[in-house]
Amino acid sequence: MATTANQFGMQEALQQLGIKEINEGTSTGNSWFSNGEILESYSPVDGQLIGKVKTTTKEDYEKVMQSATEAFKTFRMMPAPQRGEIVRQFGQKLREKKDALGKLVSYEMGKSLQEGLGEVQEMIDICDFAVGLSRQLHGFTMHSERPGHRMYDQYHALGIVGIISAFNFPVAVWSWNTALAWIAGDVCVWKPSEKTPLCGVACQNIIAEVLKENNLPEGISCLINGDYKVGEWMTSDVRVPLVSATGSTRMGKIVAQTVAGRLGRSLLELGGNNAIIVTPDADVKMTVIGAVFGAVGTAGQRCTSTRRLIIHESIYDKVRDAIVSAYAQLKIGNPLDQNNHVGPLIDTHAVEMYNKALAKVIAEGGKIIVEGGVLSGEGYESGCYVKPAIAEAEGHFEIVQHETFAPVLYLLKYDGDVDNAIAIQNGVAQGLSSAIMTNNLREAERFLSVAGSDCGIANVNIGTSGAEIGGAFGGEKETGGGRESGSDAWKVYMRRQTNTINYTTSLPLAQGIKFDL
Ligand code: NAD
Repeated sequence: MATTANQFGMQEALQQLGIKEINEGTSTGNSWFSNGEILESYSPVDGQLIGKVKTTTKEDYEKVMQSATEAFKTFRMMPAPQRGEIVRQFGQKLREKKDALGKLVSYEMGKSLQEGLGEVQEMIDICDFAVGLSRQLHGFTMHSERPGHRMYDQYHALGIVGIISAFNFPVAVWSWNTALAWIAGDVCVWKPSEKTPLCGVACQNIIAEVLKENNLPEGISCLINGDYKVGEWMTSDVRVPLVSATGSTRMGKIVAQTVAGRLGRSLLELGGNNAIIVTPDADVKMTVIGAVFGAVGTAGQRCTSTRRLIIHESIYDKVRDAIVSAYAQLKIGNPLDQNNHVGPLIDTHAVEMYNKALAKVIAEGGKIIVEGGVLSGEGYESGCYVKPAIAEAEGHFEIVQHETFAPVLYLLKYDGDVDNAIAIQNGVAQGLSSAIMTNNLREAERFLSVAGSDCGIANVNIGTSGAEIGGAFGGEKETGGGRESGSDAWKVYMRRQTNTINYTTSLPLAQGIKFDL
């Protein structure tokens, strides 16, 4: 391990998380085994090899599924508040290991340490949320039209939940799903991104400890590793009633079709193309903070990253100049060093996409106003560090319509009233996060109305990025329509059953139908 990482205590963090030089990548609760090829995990921070993970073979996968199927039979019978107690203990272990796991997230994925720690905090928050929820899996009671009848609905555990996750939230997305699935009585099989396999191993080590301490059956939490082919085993497997998939729209379209082909359920969390509308009444200082954090946080690799700023022509110059001067303050470098604002992209392929986007916006007639470029030299040896760039562009440009997973911000101008800005904002295929900066109540309410933002998330005087776990998270259109995390998102992890009970001595039929024998 490079001295740069050690200087930030990475070796101790890996030890605390049980990461070895070569890790088994398949786990059913507390047993680990793997017979597949080796997956190497290199850090985008310094280009160093962090560790290796053995991938899952088809035979390994079969063992996992058998174990999960068996575990479900026991776990579904455990009262939900007792399952909540397991989630509480898991949350407690996360608190103890927050620092170590946050560091690994930062080192393996490349986001700033602050954001790495924030991601672990999000895991802790969803555990707390799920613990309370474990006593609130409410159904309705309804009045029956028939005398002496009682009618209600109830929610039961669904079965095995397959989780496929993306590299950019290598730990939080898994726990958004598992915390809810576990209190619901489901068991989970997780395939993390092949770009961040060690984060997967670290999380599995943590939950494995909890399962062992509670003498719980293997298979409540399983880990499989590998590329899309391993994911495909789950999407086509009828033993998996729900596949929760987070990643690109390209992946989501394939997953959705495969799962629908066997009439399974999918929960999709896909790409975004998020915009902030800046109206003449916006607070410019707040706009700058929201827009800059949204555009350069996680080096523009959040699904909710701000990609478009739609600014009213009357304050366009003022906002543009304020943002450009804020960009001049940005420090790019090792994300474990808290003095830096922007870390690396995930790999050199992402750098290529970034370069292509900048070339494309120029080719389409855009104007670069904050120069981009790939950094080299000391501290930038991984080849993954790029300068956050800003381009003046138009909403209809092909590149602006596309999600580039990098710190490229497009400034778009609108005139007239807020409806014109909303039309630009909605005029893309994705529908994840959106925001308006305004002190004008009418504009804010118009933006939130049915004629306003068409996204799953619509914020007022807050940027597009950084959601709380208490709200349902997800987006519309090509973002896939799924909802995770808070509100009543738990319902997707359960099956609903309507029950009608007759406590009389006759059998009246519904709708007054007569059938006498
Ligand atoms: P990706 O689509 O390349 O991969 C995501 C996961 O899907 C990986 O685990 C991968 O192995 C798996 N996969 C790919 N093809 C598959 C297939 N055919 N069948 C089964 N599994 C398959 O995405 P990425 O590059 O890791 O992540 C970036 C993308 O994720 C961005 O588009 C981002 O917006 C999106 N994302 C969305 C959300 C959200 O909540 N909406 C959250 C995080 C990331």
